[in-house]
Amino acid sequence: MKPAAFSYHRPASVDEALDLLARHGADAKPIAGGQSLVPMMNLRLASPAHLVDLNDLSELGRIRLQGDRLEVGALARHRAVAESPLVREHCPLLAQGARTIGHYAIRERGTLGGSLAHADPAAQHALVAVTLGAQLTLARRGARRVVDAGDFLLSAMTTALAPDEMVLSASYPRAAAGEVSAFRMFNQRHGDFAIVAVAATLALEGGRVASLRLGVGGAAPVPQRLDAVASGFLGLAPGAAWIAAVARAARDAVAPEDHPRVPAAYRKELTETLVARALARCVEKSEAAA
Ligand SMILES: Cc1cc2nc3c(=O)[nH]c(=O)nc-3n(C[C@H](O)[C@H](O)[C@H](O)COP(=O)(O)OP(=O)(O)OC[C@H]3O[C@@H](n4cnc5c(N)ncnc54)[C@H](O)[C@@H]3O)c2cc1C
Repeated sequence: MKPAAFSYHRPASVDEALDLLARHGADAKPIAGGQSLVPMMNLRLASPAHLVDLNDLSELGRIRLQGDRLEVGALARHRAVAESPLVREHCPLLAQGARTIGHYAIRERGTLGGSLAHADPAAQHALVAVTLGAQLTLARRGARRVVDAGDFLLSAMTTALAPDEMVLSASYPRAAAGEVSAFRMFNQRHGDFAIVAVAATLALEGGRVASLRLGVGGAAPVPQRLDAVASGFLGLAPGAAWIAAVARAARDAVAPEDHPRVPAAYRKELTETLVARALARCVEKSEAAA
């Protein structure tokens, strides 16, 4: 099937893009990599009368350090995020997530902003953003606002974006000295969205857990950060029993919905397994760095 007819706009500046969105409101949609929007248009699940193409706004592809945070522009492609030396050094979890997205062709075109705005419950970028406490800068004509990732992602495929608003960038806290991270996911076939994905960061002090962040994607309409689980396991030595106990607690903390092809019990089991694998990898990295 082919999309319904639309007008195509190719703004040369962010201001021009925001003017177009303000003028056409809910009849317009930005298009970035097109990897989600074009299939939706072809299936007539989306029929915007106006497409506002962001691809000439090269300033939105920038990746840079801003004080103690790493700022990634909305137009940064998944491959650029995965391979950026700045991301790998200062926010390795983000690079680890980005390199597992879809297939090569999708990583070449798909963008950070497009993925966050699309808000798939199992998307890598949404999970990493929630796990790390990313802040998104949104803009509409004449106004900007900063929103926490957890407040931006409202439900499956639903965000806090107004129709005339776009994502400019996301900023992530830089990894603390000694902090390690791991991303683990399970999908049915290579390149598919995860059934469940897990993101973790860990820092040790004197062989004991000083900080732990755990995020789970695919087990609820939006990614969850399991702070209550993580806080119960600080100050302990991260041996095999610790890993198994955290993984069991994570399994108990998620409440996925039953799906005809993916029972809730299966997602819970995957959560336990993937948390255990992610933490084992974090511990391995911490020991190697010690
Ligand atoms: C076969 C296949 C497999 C895939 N596998 C995965 C996977 O494993 N994991 C994963 O996370 N993703 C996967 N994807 C999706 C892919 O990551 C997309 O690139 C991403 O979801 C959307 O990014 P995009 O730049 O292509 O956005 P587009 O398709 O251009 O747009 C998507 C939505 O975001 C909006 N939008 C785009 N940019 C902005 C902006 N700056 N501000 C506001 N709104 C904006 C659009 O209006 C649209 O509503 C897959 C896609 C395909 C086709």
